[in-house]
Amino acid sequence: MNEELERTLLSKFPEIFEITEAVPDDFLWGIHCGDGWVPLISAMCQQLQLHVETTGRPQIVAKQIKHKMGILRCVFAGTDDYSNGVINTVIGMSFVTCEMCGNKGVLARGSKGWIRVLCDQCRLANPG
Ligand SMILES: [Zn+2]
Repeated sequence: MNEELERTLLSKFPEIFEITEAVPDDFLWGIHCGDGWVPLISAMCQQLQLHVETTGRPQIVAKQIKHKMGILRCVFAGTDDYSNGVINTVIGMSFVTCEMCGNKGVLARGSKGWIRVLCDQCRLANPG
């Protein structure tokens, strides 16, 4: 993920990413996934934070966000049935969302054996 996009994400959802005042401004999580999934992750965090704030439940925190086996993998602590539903919906969307540009994509193996969700255009540009 582009550093600028990640920084925006962390600053939008400091509770979820456990960003405290002690964390330096240039801190990055190092979210390992393509920029095309940033809107999915952002929407997910927004729903999770809203859920915490409207129900008064304990804070949900992200433990891991990355791509694995071609799709988005997210691990959060403090989830309940509702928040797990939100997370699973977003993971389901990553199956059909190009990891590089966010357009409609397909999960497939590239010529170098990498399995990824890409649209036709990004797959042509990135045959690996
Ligand atoms: Zn694409």
